[in-house]
Amino acid sequence: MADATPLYDTYARAPLRFERGDGVWLIAEDGTRYLDFAAGIAVSSLGHSHPHLVAALKGQADKLWHLSNLYEVPGQETLGRRLTQVTFADKVFFTNSGAEALECAIKTARRFHFAKGHPEKFHVITFEGAFHGRTLATIAAGGQAKYLEGFGPKVPGFLQVPFGDMQAVKDAITEETAAILIEPVQGEGGIRPVPNAFLQELRALCDEYGLLLILDEVQCGVGRTGKLFAHEWAGITPDIMAVAKGIGGGFPFGACLATAEAAAGMVVGTHGTTYGGNPLAMAVGNAVLDVVLADGFLEHVRDVALVFRQGLASLKDRYPDLVEEIRGEGLMLGVKTRIPPAEFLKAVRAEHMLAVPAGDNVLRLLPPLTTTAQEAREGLARLERAAERITAATERKTA
Ligand SMILES: *Cc1c(COP(=O)(O)O)cnc(C)c1O
Repeated sequence: MADATPLYDTYARAPLRFERGDGVWLIAEDGTRYLDFAAGIAVSSLGHSHPHLVAALKGQADKLWHLSNLYEVPGQETLGRRLTQVTFADKVFFTNSGAEALECAIKTARRFHFAKGHPEKFHVITFEGAFHGRTLATIAAGGQAKYLEGFGPKVPGFLQVPFGDMQAVKDAITEETAAILIEPVQGEGGIRPVPNAFLQELRALCDEYGLLLILDEVQCGVGRTGKLFAHEWAGITPDIMAVAKGIGGGFPFGACLATAEAAAGMVVGTHGTTYGGNPLAMAVGNAVLDVVLADGFLEHVRDVALVFRQGLASLKDRYPDLVEEIRGEGLMLGVKTRIPPAEFLKAVRAEHMLAVPAGDNVLRLLPPLTTTAQEAREGLARLERAAERITAATERKTA
């Protein structure tokens, strides 16, 4: 069969084949240029082929690719030191992906209580609409039926409460609770920012009951919201944080960050990974931080975000029958549509622009953090043409 693919059928892939990337642009095999306001899914944080990242990867490739964690890995020490200097954390564990960063975070929280003589405290409270990855534990943490179905018993120890419901969180706390796990801005769930006051209250609740606060900043971290990490907007710090996506700028890796106290149970032999923190990943990660931590970079993100956001607000005003709401923070924005987001995305793609559908009828816009104001305006123009395309088609139908 000509159309049979050797690949698992797990993805509904668009018939687009890209060959090269250049900044905010992806170039298809036929030469068509697409404005990439998806950046993978918030992964290519500095756009495609960023010269500093390319140089870092090539430089490391010439020297050494792999080192076992049986040995000291200097790139891990450097990146770990830098991450702890600019965050709440004292300790870092490097992984290959977001889900593994979450696995490490969950294990760290459980071990914390175990080491204190409370093995019964292993339950984690999570929120409806959450997404934490696709491993057996992280689908249990995410709690979405569509990801759990058919994969055997749900991993025990995860209890889900409605998004934004503080009373439900309080009611869910028992003697067995170890931690509360939350994305400061839900990504997959539809770009739903958690109000600052809610995060502050969670922090206070964790302190009161001796629970650990775990933040999943896999999607919203590393400059995406205009702060290095999204929780900074709320003026709180977690005990443990999972990071991935943007931190690698397209090179696959993640990290679990923790305070020394929270990580106290993770002693020799309790956790490990073959590839996590390998020299190639560390070289790229250090290069990403060079750019993101440079003077004025986050300010740039906030400035461009303002331009983009204002444009989106005006799109909503001009197409009220199509756009219900604009939401998000920084360059993590969502357009809630009155039609299925996949339909809106189709029109956006017809304008040679990429975005990502999410839950709650939202189309996610996650442009590279290096996007200029002019490129943001180009994106707005394409969204406008897509909106016009849909409106015209609807009018034809109803005429
Ligand atoms: C993407 C994502 C993950 C999972 O990351 P993978 O690298 O796909 O395992 C976890 N949490 C959030 C918030 C994400 O967006």
